[in-house]
Amino acid sequence: MTTAHVILGDGIAGSSAAETIREAAPDADVTVITEEGEPLYNRILIKEFAKGKLPEAPIAIHEEEWYDERDIDLRLNTRVTSVDTDSQTVETDDGETIAYDKLLVATGGTPIGLPVENSDADGIHHFWTFEDARRIRQHASEAETGVVVGAGLLGIDLAAICGAQGVDAEYLMRGNRWWRYALTLDGAEMIHEALRDLGVTPVFESGIERFEVDDDGHVSGAIDSNGEFHDAEFAAVAVGLDYNTEFLQETPVELDDGIVVDEHMRTNVENVYAAGDLTRYFDVILDERAQNGSWGSAKEQGAVAGQNMVADEPAATFRYVPTYSITHFEFPFLSFGHPTLGDQSAQRTYSDEEWRRLTFKDGRLIGGVLVGDLSQQSAFKRIIRQERPVGDQTDLLLEPEVDLDALAAPAVEQ
Ligand SMILES: Cc1cc2nc3c(=O)[nH]c(=O)nc-3n(C[C@H](O)[C@H](O)[C@H](O)COP(=O)(O)OP(=O)(O)OC[C@H]3O[C@@H](n4cnc5c(N)ncnc54)[C@H](O)[C@@H]3O)c2cc1C
Repeated sequence: MTTAHVILGDGIAGSSAAETIREAAPDADVTVITEEGEPLYNRILIKEFAKGKLPEAPIAIHEEEWYDERDIDLRLNTRVTSVDTDSQTVETDDGETIAYDKLLVATGGTPIGLPVENSDADGIHHFWTFEDARRIRQHASEAETGVVVGAGLLGIDLAAICGAQGVDAEYLMRGNRWWRYALTLDGAEMIHEALRDLGVTPVFESGIERFEVDDDGHVSGAIDSNGEFHDAEFAAVAVGLDYNTEFLQETPVELDDGIVVDEHMRTNVENVYAAGDLTRYFDVILDERAQNGSWGSAKEQGAVAGQNMVADEPAATFRYVPTYSITHFEFPFLSFGHPTLGDQSAQRTYSDEEWRRLTFKDGRLIGGVLVGDLSQQSAFKRIIRQERPVGDQTDLLLEPEVDLDALAAPAVEQ
């Protein structure tokens, strides 16, 4: 009897699981359901498309033929509305009931709107899909003024799009710096200066009180939390994600701002797995539950889930150090591991455009941010994977070149 594998979501997590399952189980039934109208594309690159720097074609990863060739049943434009874990079935918005033996939930998240007046006006954008990118590219190429809200990794993409498209934009941030959970002011100032070089003005200790609209209901400006008016024909908001789990509400699957899974991507319900941005997974290196929104992590979780779904027992473990890079500036930027967590940190400035910050938990390196010089990233990722006790050796770790032999011995051999 063939096993029916049903995958919800055709992002990188779902698609990587489908590929893994097909390779490991040539006879299995594999169905992938996505509410988007196009198969997997490179979500990382849609910002370059929205900047006007890339055409559409290189952003696609898989054509529909890719699924046909692998005998994977791809359902585009199909929204999952509910799951019944007793009967092991999935309902879709076109009224179909699909039975599964193994289910993978890889439906990611949806950007949250701001709870302020006029936040759904025309011309106010959120950014997650290729369709969003097409709208943003078109509108940004026409607009002269704009505001961006959300001082994180997605907000800065929107700011950079404004810069590239010649929108005279103000970037409103709640605190005194960009990504205040991972950067101190020393590192953030380099980013602020680079934003100004792109033509984007950072505005600190700010936020949106409400949007103003014109007679056609199109955004015309924003009143910030200090009562200041900002002219804006274009507005973009990136203040977090709601995880797409509403179809699991009536099931016993454990939810906690995402789906709770172990290090094998298993939920608490038999035959139900989850992978990608929406997991609250057990991180075996951190030794605690964690969440991570990055392409590489989602891809690896999909592969781990796929192997375990086929093996029917834990055959693979998610043990991974994620990275996230920003390529909008003259200098490179990379965050790795978990730069917003930990109980200790160390930082050093090397030049006007070179800075490093490292975070530690219980004396072990768990993450960091590199600005300007990424040459040590492999060494740092290795130290994290080796779980070395290095918290009392921060001077060595802040040397321009890290001497791995000079550090305390690894706790875990690679
Ligand atoms: C603009 C942008 C830039 C980014 N840049 C970077 C970067 O530089 N580096 C990096 O590492 N990461 C980056 N990321 C994050 C990265 O893209 C995500 O971490 C990754 O795509 C998550 O993959 P996923 O498969 O978990 O979820 P998603 O890619 O969100 O895929 C989930 C899929 O499920 C579908 N779905 C949702 N609900 C349902 C439903 N009810 N029924 C059917 N289908 C449903 C969605 O439509 C979607 O296609 C960026 C993200 C964005 C938006």
